[in-house]
Amino acid sequence: MAERVQARSREALARLRAASDRAERPLSFMEVCGTHTTAAFRLGLPSLMPENVRLLSGPGCPVCVTAQGDIDLLIALALDHRVTLCTYGDMLRVPGRRGSLAKARARGADLRVVYSSLDAVRLAAAEPERQLVFAAVGFETTAPATAAAVETARRLGLTNFSVLASHKRVMPALEALAASPELALDGFLLPGHVSVILGSEVYRPLVEARHLPCVIGGFEEALMLVALAELAEQAVDGRAELVNLYPEAVRPRGNRVAQDLLERVFEPAEVPWRGLSRIPESGLVLRAAYADFDATRRFGLLRAEDREPAGCICGAVITAAATPHDCRLFGTACTPIDPIGPCMVSSEGTCQAWFKYRGMPEPVLEPEPSTQIASPA
Ligand code: SF4
Repeated sequence: MAERVQARSREALARLRAASDRAERPLSFMEVCGTHTTAAFRLGLPSLMPENVRLLSGPGCPVCVTAQGDIDLLIALALDHRVTLCTYGDMLRVPGRRGSLAKARARGADLRVVYSSLDAVRLAAAEPERQLVFAAVGFETTAPATAAAVETARRLGLTNFSVLASHKRVMPALEALAASPELALDGFLLPGHVSVILGSEVYRPLVEARHLPCVIGGFEEALMLVALAELAEQAVDGRAELVNLYPEAVRPRGNRVAQDLLERVFEPAEVPWRGLSRIPESGLVLRAAYADFDATRRFGLLRAEDREPAGCICGAVITAAATPHDCRLFGTACTPIDPIGPCMVSSEGTCQAWFKYRGMPEPVLEPEPSTQIASPA
């Protein structure tokens, strides 16, 4: 089995190198999935890329793309409104203006880490005397579970459950990235998990309108290398095709049950992203029929201006406008143990992946001081 995988990886790498040899200019491909980011670095893929091929990490980490203002709202809910806040573990250490949720807990906030949105509904049902808010983050992968939680809470008649929805839609972000002249992308390695929900065909307009190769890839070394080889061959040949290399999980039309659930409970809205500013229709907000479950409305929350932690360039890292090594705080003031920005907090964040698998940047060596002694004037 291992030999077969190795052979497939070698074959894909040879294809990638052959395509890159034919390229008349450097090629840039972007993956937009936190799991791809981590897998790529863990497997050492960046070091296998031919010199003229760049594999960029885009906005695929759910925690990282959550705007600073949303983090601040969660902290306000926990500290000022004294709700019980249910969140996924990765969110705990993301710093906001008033510290992180973990620090809010140290100051007495009631914070519970849950593994699913339905756990939050169960807690609300068990503790009817407390107002409980679920911090809903992530792309279309996690949003159906939030929608299911809202429908369940309604069915149970819960009046103490609400959601702060910071969900994001992947397609508008891909459109924005594809349109960026600075990035000048040659193709997307598309996210496997989101594609399970959305299906492969959702990307076809992007491929056709932008003439951009798009390949849905799995998460193992061989699968990612095959996807990159496919992208490179298409780019060099001047082709733009939609290829699904993860058909065992991704169907052309995706998961209709999950899509219907999303459609019933949420509607698209313009929302802020860390690093990408506001993108029309890029978020999912509760429909008017479910407004009773909207924590923003229930607690009269007002968003503050989105502001990055001082010195943190996460926004630029998320959009591949900078690398973690461009950040002067990387590995010094900001480490996975003591993170400053979400890209170092999250196990799917690019800064954490670089810290774990690439380490510190090479030191810039100063030229030797001259040993010549100036002759007296
Ligand atoms: Fe932000 Fe830390 Fe990454 Fe710098 S190294 S961009 S401070 S998360």
